[in-house]
Amino acid sequence: MREEIMARLTAYRAHDAPTHGGRVLSYVYDSGRPELDEIAAAAARELQAVNGLDPTTFPSVALLEGDLIRFGREMLHGPEVTGSVTSGGTESCLLAVLAARERWRGRDGQGRPRIVLPTSAHAAFHKAAHLFGLDLTLVPVDVGSGRPDSAEIVAAIEADLSTVALVVVSAPSYPHGVLDPVGEVAAAAQERGIPCHVDACIGGLVLPWWEAAGGDAVPAWDFSVAGVSSISADLHKFGFAPKGSSLLLFAEPELDRARYFALTDWPGYPVVNATLLGSRSATSLAAAWAVAQDLGVEGYVELTAQTVRATRSVLETVAQIEGLRVIGEPVGPLVAVASDEAVAPVSRVDPHAWASAVGRRGFVLQGQPGHPQRDAPAVPRSTHLTLTPVTESMLDDLLPALVEAADEVRGPGAEPATGRGEESPIPDPEALAEAARAGGDLDLAAVLALIEALPREHSARLLSTFLAAFTAPR
Ligand SMILES: *Cc1c(COP(=O)(O)O)cnc(C)c1O
Repeated sequence: MREEIMARLTAYRAHDAPTHGGRVLSYVYDSGRPELDEIAAAAARELQAVNGLDPTTFPSVALLEGDLIRFGREMLHGPEVTGSVTSGGTESCLLAVLAARERWRGRDGQGRPRIVLPTSAHAAFHKAAHLFGLDLTLVPVDVGSGRPDSAEIVAAIEADLSTVALVVVSAPSYPHGVLDPVGEVAAAAQERGIPCHVDACIGGLVLPWWEAAGGDAVPAWDFSVAGVSSISADLHKFGFAPKGSSLLLFAEPELDRARYFALTDWPGYPVVNATLLGSRSATSLAAAWAVAQDLGVEGYVELTAQTVRATRSVLETVAQIEGLRVIGEPVGPLVAVASDEAVAPVSRVDPHAWASAVGRRGFVLQGQPGHPQRDAPAVPRSTHLTLTPVTESMLDDLLPALVEAADEVRGPGAEPATGRGEESPIPDPEALAEAARAGGDLDLAAVLALIEALPREHSARLLSTFLAAFTAPR
């Protein structure tokens, strides 16, 4: 029976993209150290039956969390910060916004609260605004550098100061891997009494060691910067923990407390939740704790050194490819590649056609659609690569794949079609899902082109229909 169940599980898993080995350059963060996976699994098993809801009944939860927060304090230079281990980056960002909204309300904020943030800030903040009833004021990024102008952020704050609940910057931004002007923005926020969240979901456990690992110096972005009031840093990204763990840290006790939910006004047990869920697994907390203990600062520096070398090689290679350019100056292991508009059209390489061609050579890159910005030039379509320690061992395959793929698709005519001529109808998302379920390859470049071509609310609805159909019981 057990064998049968496990065999079916293995069969299901055979449909998945590889999580190890450096073939998928997003979503997964492979340390290349199998012993970390083992200690994580053993730790998760130890806590398997525990309910993270109540650390007074299960004090191990508080002890594990305390160790990780202490680790975060040292790493992010906030000796007194407090916080939680959440289920992931999205939950950390949601709670940072919730805390800021509650603080704003507590200070008799008028009207509807807003978040001021660059267009490159993570989608999680759009989700937070949607869930918690805030407006977003999006500040454009420069299409050359991928960075917002701090003066524009300040102007956006000033435009209606009393409604601003939170300012967000990224370290680095997910789409382009560049560092926002944290120092300037945090100082301006502090001067005006507004909290400033630094979203280091992806950079939080790699930028702290970047310079020590042989990378270029990274301008200060953590709690050492005046005015930074909260930071999110995902353990399940460059912390190399299994999915389900992120650190959320607050510099001010008032903000930290504002994200709690407590209720005594019902006939059941007294409720107090520091995070969004009620009953919750402690398995990913234990796994993240074990991985962090095992690696320690030294281990993270070693792994980061591999990542630094891999990133450098990829950047050097892309710089040599005619028709492509890297957007801005990545500070860490994330790279966005766009078409080089400075060369003649015959020499340009469409980044999505390139990603498809790299895909045919066995590496999965992540396409990002072009993004129209209000009152500013559009962010060009790009292809995203997240480099990890294991990438270094794959460079002999990866670098030639990047070069040969560009040679294959260089020049006009290689851009993916939207599949949508003047009269041809928009593809039916349910039919697309059916085809993908039947094992056909989903043409991601065409999907991205469609997203660019349609009004965004429309394409977002299509995505929901597609996913619902794809995941429906079969
Ligand atoms: C990954 C990421 C998030 C969201 O995190 P999840 O763990 O996917 O929920 C938020 N911000 C940034 C910058 C990220 O890279």
